[in-house]
Amino acid sequence: MNVADSQRVASALENLGYQETKRPESADVIVLNTCVVRQSAEDKALGRLSSLKPLKKKNPNLVINLMGCLVGVRPSEALKKRLPYVDVFSAPSDPTPLVQHLLEKQGKTLQDEAQAQINTLLDETLTLPALEQDKLVSAFIPIVLGCSHACTYCIIPSRRGREISRPPQVILQEAHDLVAQGVKEITLLGQIVDRYGLDNPAYPKLDELLYQLHDIDGLQRIRFLTSHPNYMSDALLQAVADLPKVMPHMEVPNQAGDDQILEAMHRGYTAQQYRELIAKIRSMIPGASIATDIIVGFPGETDEQFQHTYDLLAELKLDVAHLARYSPREGTPSARNLPDDVPDEVKWNRFRALEALQKGIAESIHGTYLNQITEVLFEARQKSRWRGRTPTNKLVFVETERNLTGELLPVKVEWTGPWSMIGSLVEPEQSA
Ligand code: SAH
Repeated sequence: MNVADSQRVASALENLGYQETKRPESADVIVLNTCVVRQSAEDKALGRLSSLKPLKKKNPNLVINLMGCLVGVRPSEALKKRLPYVDVFSAPSDPTPLVQHLLEKQGKTLQDEAQAQINTLLDETLTLPALEQDKLVSAFIPIVLGCSHACTYCIIPSRRGREISRPPQVILQEAHDLVAQGVKEITLLGQIVDRYGLDNPAYPKLDELLYQLHDIDGLQRIRFLTSHPNYMSDALLQAVADLPKVMPHMEVPNQAGDDQILEAMHRGYTAQQYRELIAKIRSMIPGASIATDIIVGFPGETDEQFQHTYDLLAELKLDVAHLARYSPREGTPSARNLPDDVPDEVKWNRFRALEALQKGIAESIHGTYLNQITEVLFEARQKSRWRGRTPTNKLVFVETERNLTGELLPVKVEWTGPWSMIGSLVEPEQSA
Protein backbone atom coordinates (compact mmCIF):
# COMPACT_ATOMS: atom_id res chain seq x y z
CA MET A 1 0.00 0.00 0.00
CA ASN A 2 2.82 2.38 0.84
CA VAL A 3 4.63 1.60 -2.42
CA ALA A 4 1.42 2.48 -4.26
CA ASP A 5 1.03 5.68 -2.24
CA SER A 6 4.64 6.69 -2.92
CA GLN A 7 4.18 6.19 -6.67
CA ARG A 8 1.21 8.49 -6.51
CA VAL A 9 3.24 11.22 -4.82
CA ALA A 10 6.06 10.78 -7.34
CA SER A 11 3.57 11.18 -10.15
CA ALA A 12 2.07 14.34 -8.58
CA LEU A 13 5.59 15.80 -8.19
CA GLU A 14 6.45 15.04 -11.80
CA ASN A 15 3.34 16.90 -12.88
CA LEU A 16 4.83 19.89 -11.06
CA GLY A 17 8.12 19.51 -12.92
CA TYR A 18 10.19 17.71 -10.28
CA GLN A 19 12.60 14.87 -11.10
CA GLU A 20 13.71 11.93 -9.01
CA THR A 21 17.15 11.85 -7.40
CA LYS A 22 18.73 8.94 -5.56
CA ARG A 23 20.76 11.26 -3.30
CA PRO A 24 18.97 12.92 -0.36
CA GLU A 25 21.73 15.60 -0.27
CA SER A 26 20.75 16.88 -3.71
CA ALA A 27 16.98 16.83 -3.15
CA ASP A 28 14.73 19.91 -2.95
CA VAL A 29 11.88 17.82 -1.61
CA ILE A 30 12.07 14.68 0.51
CA VAL A 31 8.97 12.61 1.16
CA LEU A 32 9.21 10.07 3.96
CA ASN A 33 6.33 7.62 3.72
CA THR A 34 5.83 5.75 6.97
CA CYS A 35 4.41 2.56 8.48
CA VAL A 36 3.59 2.06 12.16
CA VAL A 37 2.01 -1.39 12.13
CA ARG A 38 4.63 -2.54 14.65
CA GLN A 39 6.88 -0.57 17.00
CA SER A 40 9.95 -1.59 14.94
CA ALA A 41 8.50 0.07 11.82
CA GLU A 42 7.72 3.25 13.75
CA ASP A 43 11.24 3.35 15.26
CA LYS A 44 12.76 2.92 11.80
CA ALA A 45 10.68 5.76 10.38
CA LEU A 46 11.61 8.10 13.24
CA GLY A 47 15.30 7.15 12.92
CA ARG A 48 15.28 7.85 9.22
CA LEU A 49 13.52 11.13 9.79
CA SER A 50 16.09 12.37 12.29
CA SER A 51 18.88 11.40 9.88
CA LEU A 52 17.38 14.00 7.50
CA LYS A 53 17.64 16.80 10.05
CA PRO A 54 21.25 17.81 9.17
CA LEU A 55 20.24 18.18 5.50
CA LYS A 56 17.64 20.71 6.52
CA LYS A 57 20.32 22.67 8.43
CA LYS A 58 22.55 22.73 5.34
CA ASN A 59 19.74 23.63 2.96
CA PRO A 60 16.97 25.63 4.67
CA ASN A 61 14.97 25.52 1.42
CA LEU A 62 14.66 21.76 1.60
CA VAL A 63 11.04 20.66 1.98
CA ILE A 64 10.54 17.65 4.21
CA ASN A 65 7.19 15.90 3.90
CA LEU A 66 6.22 13.30 6.47
CA MET A 67 3.52 11.05 5.09
CA GLY A 68 1.54 7.97 6.00
CA CYS A 69 0.55 6.16 9.14
CA LEU A 70 2.94 8.01 11.45
CA VAL A 71 0.85 11.07 10.62
CA GLY A 72 -2.56 9.39 10.52
CA VAL A 73 -5.73 10.93 9.14
CA ARG A 74 -4.91 14.29 10.77
CA PRO A 75 -1.51 15.21 12.26
CA SER A 76 -1.67 15.79 16.02
CA GLU A 77 -0.35 19.03 17.50
CA ALA A 78 2.01 16.92 19.63
CA LEU A 79 3.55 15.37 16.51
CA LYS A 80 4.01 18.78 14.84
CA LYS A 81 5.65 20.13 17.98
CA ARG A 82 7.95 17.16 18.25
CA LEU A 83 9.08 17.44 14.62
CA PRO A 84 9.54 21.16 13.95
CA TYR A 85 11.80 20.52 10.95
CA VAL A 86 9.02 18.75 9.06
CA ASP A 87 7.39 21.22 6.64
CA VAL A 88 4.37 19.19 5.53
CA PHE A 89 2.40 16.42 7.19
CA SER A 90 0.16 14.26 5.03
CA ALA A 91 -2.24 11.42 5.63
CA PRO A 92 -1.75 8.02 3.97
CA SER A 93 -2.48 8.06 0.21
CA ASP A 94 -2.82 11.84 0.05
CA PRO A 95 -0.30 13.96 -1.90
CA THR A 96 -2.51 17.07 -1.71
CA PRO A 97 -0.86 18.85 1.27
CA LEU A 98 2.57 18.53 -0.36
CA VAL A 99 1.40 19.79 -3.75
CA GLN A 100 -0.40 22.67 -2.07
CA HIS A 101 2.70 23.60 -0.09
CA LEU A 102 4.97 23.52 -3.16
CA LEU A 103 2.56 25.64 -5.21
CA GLU A 104 2.25 28.17 -2.42
CA LYS A 105 6.04 28.42 -2.28
CA GLN A 106 5.90 29.42 -5.95
CA GLY A 107 3.18 31.97 -5.18
CA LYS A 108 0.47 29.91 -6.85
CA THR A 109 -2.67 28.32 -5.51
CA LEU A 110 -4.23 25.01 -6.21
CA GLN A 111 -7.15 26.64 -8.02
CA ASP A 112 -5.16 28.58 -10.59
CA GLU A 113 -2.88 25.66 -11.26
CA ALA A 114 -4.99 23.57 -13.60
CA GLN A 115 -1.79 21.87 -14.68
CA ALA A 116 -1.14 20.39 -11.30
CA GLN A 117 -3.17 17.25 -11.48
CA ILE A 118 -3.55 16.03 -8.02
CA ASN A 119 -4.15 12.38 -7.66
CA THR A 120 -6.67 12.44 -4.91
CA LEU A 121 -7.35 8.76 -4.88
CA LEU A 122 -11.09 8.93 -5.07
CA ASP A 123 -11.61 10.80 -8.28
CA GLU A 124 -8.30 10.88 -10.12
CA THR A 125 -6.32 8.16 -11.80
CA LEU A 126 -2.64 7.54 -11.40
CA THR A 127 -0.13 8.06 -14.17
CA LEU A 128 3.22 6.45 -13.59
CA PRO A 129 6.20 8.68 -13.00
CA ALA A 130 8.27 8.89 -16.19
CA LEU A 131 11.16 7.15 -14.53
CA GLU A 132 9.11 4.05 -13.91
CA GLN A 133 7.57 3.88 -17.35
CA ASP A 134 10.20 1.84 -19.11
CA LYS A 135 10.71 -0.59 -16.29
CA LEU A 136 7.54 -1.10 -14.33
CA VAL A 137 6.10 -4.51 -15.16
CA SER A 138 3.90 -4.90 -12.14
CA ALA A 139 1.83 -2.07 -10.64
CA PHE A 140 -0.44 -1.68 -7.64
CA ILE A 141 -3.92 -0.19 -7.68
CA PRO A 142 -5.48 0.55 -4.29
CA ILE A 143 -9.19 -0.23 -4.58
CA VAL A 144 -10.26 -0.09 -0.92
CA LEU A 145 -8.85 2.70 1.23
CA GLY A 146 -8.81 2.57 5.02
CA CYS A 147 -10.32 -0.20 7.11
CA SER A 148 -13.34 -0.50 9.39
CA HIS A 149 -12.82 -3.99 10.73
CA ALA A 150 -10.98 -3.15 13.97
CA CYS A 151 -8.94 -6.23 14.89
CA THR A 152 -8.00 -5.49 18.49
CA TYR A 153 -4.21 -5.42 17.89
CA CYS A 154 -4.29 -3.30 14.75
CA ILE A 155 -3.55 0.39 14.42
CA ILE A 156 -4.34 0.65 10.71
CA PRO A 157 -8.06 1.59 10.99
CA SER A 158 -7.23 4.56 13.20
CA ARG A 159 -4.39 5.75 10.96
CA ARG A 160 -5.83 5.14 7.51
CA GLY A 161 -9.41 6.04 8.39
CA ARG A 162 -12.66 4.26 7.70
CA GLU A 163 -13.12 1.88 4.83
CA ILE A 164 -14.03 3.42 1.48
CA SER A 165 -14.03 1.85 -1.97
CA ARG A 166 -12.73 3.78 -4.97
CA PRO A 167 -15.19 4.23 -7.84
CA PRO A 168 -14.96 1.39 -10.38
CA GLN A 169 -14.62 3.75 -13.35
CA VAL A 170 -11.53 5.30 -11.74
CA ILE A 171 -10.00 1.87 -11.12
CA LEU A 172 -10.71 0.67 -14.67
CA GLN A 173 -9.34 3.88 -16.19
CA GLU A 174 -6.23 3.62 -14.07
CA ALA A 175 -5.74 0.00 -15.15
CA HIS A 176 -6.15 0.97 -18.83
CA ASP A 177 -3.63 3.80 -18.44
CA LEU A 178 -1.09 1.61 -16.67
CA VAL A 179 -1.36 -1.09 -19.33
CA ALA A 180 -0.97 1.55 -22.04
CA GLN A 181 2.25 2.56 -20.29
CA GLY A 182 3.55 -1.00 -20.50
CA VAL A 183 2.41 -2.55 -17.23
CA LYS A 184 1.70 -6.29 -17.56
CA GLU A 185 0.50 -7.17 -14.09
CA ILE A 186 -1.85 -5.35 -11.75
CA THR A 187 -2.29 -6.08 -8.06
CA LEU A 188 -5.46 -4.71 -6.47
CA LEU A 189 -4.95 -3.55 -2.91
CA GLY A 190 -7.05 -3.17 0.19
CA GLN A 191 -6.70 -3.91 3.89
CA ILE A 192 -9.64 -6.23 3.26
CA VAL A 193 -9.65 -6.25 -0.52
CA ASP A 194 -12.57 -8.66 -0.84
CA ARG A 195 -14.80 -6.09 0.88
CA TYR A 196 -14.52 -3.98 -2.28
CA GLY A 197 -17.87 -2.38 -3.12
CA LEU A 198 -19.63 -3.54 0.04
CA ASP A 199 -19.76 0.09 1.23
CA ASN A 200 -21.57 1.25 -1.90
CA PRO A 201 -24.54 -0.57 -3.45
CA ALA A 202 -23.89 1.08 -6.82
CA TYR A 203 -20.44 -0.47 -7.13
CA PRO A 204 -19.55 -3.90 -8.51
CA LYS A 205 -18.14 -6.42 -6.02
CA LEU A 206 -14.56 -7.70 -6.29
CA ASP A 207 -15.51 -10.73 -8.40
CA GLU A 208 -17.38 -8.50 -10.88
CA LEU A 209 -14.48 -6.05 -10.96
CA LEU A 210 -12.12 -8.91 -11.82
CA TYR A 211 -14.26 -9.87 -14.83
CA GLN A 212 -14.20 -6.23 -16.01
CA LEU A 213 -10.43 -5.91 -15.61
CA HIS A 214 -9.93 -9.22 -17.33
CA ASP A 215 -11.15 -7.70 -20.62
CA ILE A 216 -8.26 -5.22 -20.82
CA ASP A 217 -6.09 -6.14 -23.80
CA GLY A 218 -2.42 -6.34 -22.99
CA LEU A 219 -2.99 -6.91 -19.29
CA GLN A 220 -1.55 -10.33 -18.58
CA ARG A 221 -1.90 -10.93 -14.88
CA ILE A 222 -4.21 -9.77 -12.10
CA ARG A 223 -3.68 -10.30 -8.38
CA PHE A 224 -5.38 -8.97 -5.26
CA LEU A 225 -4.53 -8.67 -1.57
CA THR A 226 -5.19 -8.86 1.36
CA SER A 227 -8.20 -11.12 1.94
CA HIS A 228 -10.07 -11.62 5.18
CA PRO A 229 -11.41 -15.18 5.64
CA ASN A 230 -14.96 -13.94 6.27
CA TYR A 231 -15.24 -12.03 3.00
CA MET A 232 -13.84 -14.52 0.47
CA SER A 233 -17.14 -15.25 -1.24
CA ASP A 234 -17.77 -18.27 -3.44
CA ALA A 235 -18.33 -15.83 -6.31
CA LEU A 236 -14.83 -14.45 -5.75
CA LEU A 237 -13.24 -17.90 -5.69
CA GLN A 238 -15.24 -18.82 -8.81
CA ALA A 239 -13.92 -15.71 -10.59
CA VAL A 240 -10.34 -16.70 -9.74
CA ALA A 241 -11.03 -20.21 -11.01
CA ASP A 242 -12.70 -18.94 -14.22
CA LEU A 243 -10.42 -16.13 -15.26
CA PRO A 244 -7.04 -17.18 -16.68
CA LYS A 245 -5.48 -13.76 -16.05
CA VAL A 246 -6.34 -13.85 -12.34
CA MET A 247 -3.46 -15.66 -10.70
CA PRO A 248 -4.10 -18.62 -8.37
CA HIS A 249 -2.49 -17.03 -5.35
CA MET A 250 -4.22 -15.67 -2.27
CA GLU A 251 -3.13 -13.83 0.85
CA VAL A 252 -5.50 -14.96 3.60
CA PRO A 253 -4.24 -14.03 7.06
CA ASN A 254 -5.08 -16.48 9.78
CA GLN A 255 -3.28 -14.63 12.65
CA ALA A 256 -3.72 -17.51 15.13
CA GLY A 257 -4.85 -21.12 15.30
CA ASP A 258 -6.44 -20.91 18.74
CA ASP A 259 -10.09 -19.97 19.07
CA GLN A 260 -9.73 -17.99 22.29
CA ILE A 261 -6.91 -15.93 20.83
CA LEU A 262 -8.87 -15.41 17.61
CA GLU A 263 -11.79 -14.19 19.69
CA ALA A 264 -9.57 -11.82 21.68
CA MET A 265 -8.16 -10.55 18.39
CA HIS A 266 -11.72 -9.91 17.18
CA ARG A 267 -11.04 -11.76 13.95
CA GLY A 268 -14.55 -13.15 13.57
CA TYR A 269 -13.82 -16.80 12.70
CA THR A 270 -12.62 -20.01 14.34
CA ALA A 271 -9.68 -22.24 13.44
CA GLN A 272 -12.14 -24.78 12.03
CA GLN A 273 -13.75 -22.14 9.79
CA TYR A 274 -10.30 -21.15 8.53
CA ARG A 275 -9.48 -24.81 7.87
CA GLU A 276 -12.72 -25.21 5.89
CA LEU A 277 -12.02 -22.08 3.86
CA ILE A 278 -8.58 -23.37 2.88
CA ALA A 279 -10.15 -26.69 1.83
CA LYS A 280 -12.73 -24.80 -0.25
CA ILE A 281 -10.08 -22.65 -1.95
CA ARG A 282 -8.10 -25.77 -2.79
CA SER A 283 -11.10 -27.61 -4.19
CA MET A 284 -12.35 -24.67 -6.29
CA ILE A 285 -8.89 -23.55 -7.45
CA PRO A 286 -6.68 -26.64 -7.77
CA GLY A 287 -3.01 -25.82 -7.33
CA ALA A 288 -3.76 -22.47 -5.66
CA SER A 289 -1.00 -21.04 -3.55
CA ILE A 290 -2.00 -19.55 -0.21
CA ALA A 291 -0.11 -17.17 2.04
CA THR A 292 -1.02 -16.32 5.61
CA ASP A 293 -0.05 -13.88 8.36
CA ILE A 294 0.53 -15.03 11.93
CA ILE A 295 1.03 -13.03 15.13
CA VAL A 296 2.80 -14.85 17.96
CA GLY A 297 2.74 -13.70 21.58
CA PHE A 298 -0.64 -11.96 21.59
CA PRO A 299 -1.47 -10.98 25.22
CA GLY A 300 -2.19 -14.03 27.32
CA GLU A 301 -1.12 -16.55 24.65
CA THR A 302 -0.15 -19.75 26.51
CA ASP A 303 2.19 -22.48 25.24
CA GLU A 304 -0.85 -24.61 24.57
CA GLN A 305 -2.62 -21.88 22.60
CA PHE A 306 0.52 -21.28 20.57
CA GLN A 307 0.70 -25.02 19.91
CA HIS A 308 -2.74 -24.80 18.26
CA THR A 309 -1.32 -22.25 15.81
CA TYR A 310 1.73 -24.43 15.19
CA ASP A 311 -0.41 -27.51 14.62
CA LEU A 312 -2.76 -25.70 12.25
CA LEU A 313 0.12 -24.46 10.09
CA ALA A 314 1.70 -27.93 10.14
CA GLU A 315 -1.61 -29.41 9.02
CA LEU A 316 -2.56 -26.88 6.34
CA LYS A 317 0.89 -26.61 4.72
CA LEU A 318 0.37 -23.15 3.26
CA ASP A 319 2.86 -21.72 0.78
CA VAL A 320 3.98 -18.68 2.76
CA ALA A 321 3.59 -17.48 6.35
CA HIS A 322 4.38 -13.86 7.19
CA LEU A 323 5.29 -14.00 10.87
CA ALA A 324 5.17 -11.18 13.42
CA ARG A 325 5.74 -10.88 17.15
CA TYR A 326 2.90 -9.04 18.86
CA SER A 327 3.70 -5.37 19.29
CA PRO A 328 1.33 -3.26 21.42
CA ARG A 329 0.16 -0.23 19.44
CA GLU A 330 -0.98 2.80 21.37
CA GLY A 331 -4.70 3.40 21.19
CA THR A 332 -5.64 -0.10 20.01
CA PRO A 333 -8.11 -2.09 22.15
CA SER A 334 -5.56 -4.82 22.95
CA ALA A 335 -2.92 -2.31 24.05
CA ARG A 336 -5.49 -0.52 26.19
CA ASN A 337 -7.09 -3.54 27.81
CA LEU A 338 -4.53 -6.34 27.86
CA PRO A 339 -1.02 -6.42 29.33
CA ASP A 340 1.77 -7.32 26.86
CA ASP A 341 2.60 -10.26 29.09
CA VAL A 342 4.34 -12.76 26.82
CA PRO A 343 8.08 -12.25 27.43
CA ASP A 344 10.13 -11.20 24.44
CA GLU A 345 12.19 -14.36 24.63
CA VAL A 346 9.05 -16.50 24.42
CA LYS A 347 7.79 -14.49 21.46
CA TRP A 348 11.12 -15.08 19.72
CA ASN A 349 11.05 -18.81 20.45
CA ARG A 350 7.54 -19.13 19.02
CA PHE A 351 8.54 -17.04 16.03
CA ARG A 352 11.57 -19.25 15.33
CA ALA A 353 9.56 -22.45 15.77
CA LEU A 354 7.07 -21.31 13.12
CA GLU A 355 9.87 -20.09 10.90
CA ALA A 356 11.55 -23.51 10.96
CA LEU A 357 8.24 -25.28 10.37
CA GLN A 358 7.36 -23.05 7.43
CA LYS A 359 10.82 -23.37 5.90
CA GLY A 360 10.36 -27.13 5.68
CA ILE A 361 6.85 -26.78 4.23
CA ALA A 362 7.96 -24.26 1.61
CA GLU A 363 10.95 -26.41 0.70
CA SER A 364 8.79 -29.43 0.04
CA ILE A 365 6.13 -27.46 -1.91
CA HIS A 366 8.86 -25.92 -4.05
CA GLY A 367 10.36 -29.37 -4.60
CA THR A 368 7.26 -30.32 -6.56
CA TYR A 369 8.21 -27.67 -9.16
CA LEU A 370 11.54 -29.37 -9.92
CA ASN A 371 11.91 -30.26 -13.62
CA GLN A 372 8.47 -28.80 -14.30
CA ILE A 373 7.79 -26.07 -16.83
CA THR A 374 6.05 -22.98 -15.47
CA GLU A 375 5.12 -19.56 -16.89
CA VAL A 376 7.24 -16.77 -15.46
CA LEU A 377 6.60 -13.04 -15.76
CA PHE A 378 10.00 -11.33 -15.59
CA GLU A 379 10.26 -8.07 -13.70
CA ALA A 380 13.87 -6.95 -13.51
CA ARG A 381 17.51 -7.90 -13.54
CA GLN A 382 19.05 -8.70 -10.17
CA LYS A 383 22.84 -8.91 -10.44
CA SER A 384 23.57 -11.40 -13.22
CA ARG A 385 20.10 -12.96 -13.15
CA TRP A 386 16.58 -12.10 -14.21
CA ARG A 387 13.91 -12.17 -11.56
CA GLY A 388 10.32 -13.20 -12.16
CA ARG A 389 7.31 -14.89 -10.62
CA THR A 390 5.23 -17.95 -11.35
CA PRO A 391 1.41 -17.72 -11.39
CA THR A 392 1.56 -18.98 -7.79
CA ASN A 393 3.83 -16.04 -6.91
CA LYS A 394 7.03 -18.09 -6.48
CA LEU A 395 10.25 -16.22 -7.06
CA VAL A 396 12.24 -17.59 -10.02
CA PHE A 397 15.72 -16.59 -11.23
CA VAL A 398 17.05 -17.21 -14.73
CA GLU A 399 20.55 -16.53 -16.02
CA THR A 400 20.55 -15.06 -19.52
CA GLU A 401 22.04 -12.23 -21.58
CA ARG A 402 18.61 -11.41 -23.03
CA ASN A 403 16.57 -8.48 -21.73
CA LEU A 404 13.53 -10.16 -20.22
CA THR A 405 11.75 -7.14 -18.70
CA GLY A 406 8.01 -7.65 -18.99
CA GLU A 407 8.27 -10.99 -20.82
CA LEU A 408 6.02 -13.89 -19.94
CA LEU A 409 7.96 -17.06 -20.79
CA PRO A 410 8.01 -20.78 -20.03
CA VAL A 411 10.82 -21.73 -17.67
CA LYS A 412 12.09 -25.16 -16.71
CA VAL A 413 12.81 -25.26 -12.97
CA GLU A 414 16.24 -26.76 -12.23
CA TRP A 415 16.83 -25.94 -8.56
CA THR A 416 14.46 -25.18 -5.70
CA GLY A 417 15.00 -23.86 -2.19
CA PRO A 418 12.66 -22.62 0.53
CA TRP A 419 12.48 -19.02 -0.74
CA SER A 420 13.16 -19.18 -4.47
CA MET A 421 13.89 -21.31 -7.53
CA ILE A 422 16.36 -21.25 -10.41
CA GLY A 423 15.49 -22.29 -13.93
CA SER A 424 16.26 -21.78 -17.59
CA LEU A 425 14.23 -20.52 -20.51
CA VAL A 426 12.57 -23.26 -22.49
CA GLU A 427 13.72 -23.04 -26.09
CA PRO A 428 10.86 -22.98 -28.62
CA GLU A 429 11.67 -26.47 -30.01
CA GLN A 430 11.65 -27.87 -26.45
CA SER A 431 8.27 -26.44 -25.61
CA ALA A 432 6.69 -27.41 -28.94
N1 SAH B 1 -5.27 -5.58 6.67
C1 SAH B 1 -4.31 -6.56 6.34
C2 SAH B 1 -2.90 -6.15 6.65
C3 SAH B 1 -2.64 -5.76 8.04
S1 SAH B 1 -0.97 -5.36 8.45
C4 SAH B 1 -4.69 -7.82 7.04
O1 SAH B 1 -5.66 -7.85 7.76
O2 SAH B 1 -4.02 -8.79 6.83
C5 SAH B 1 -0.11 -6.81 8.08
C6 SAH B 1 0.09 -7.77 9.20
O3 SAH B 1 0.76 -7.17 10.27
C7 SAH B 1 -1.18 -8.30 9.81
O4 SAH B 1 -1.77 -9.28 9.05
C8 SAH B 1 -0.71 -8.80 11.15
O5 SAH B 1 -0.27 -10.14 11.06
C9 SAH B 1 0.48 -7.89 11.45
N2 SAH B 1 0.16 -6.97 12.54
C10 SAH B 1 -0.80 -6.02 12.58
N3 SAH B 1 -0.80 -5.41 13.79
C11 SAH B 1 0.18 -5.99 14.52
C12 SAH B 1 0.67 -5.79 15.85
N4 SAH B 1 0.12 -4.90 16.67
N5 SAH B 1 1.69 -6.56 16.27
C13 SAH B 1 2.24 -7.49 15.46
N6 SAH B 1 1.83 -7.72 14.21
C14 SAH B 1 0.80 -6.98 13.73
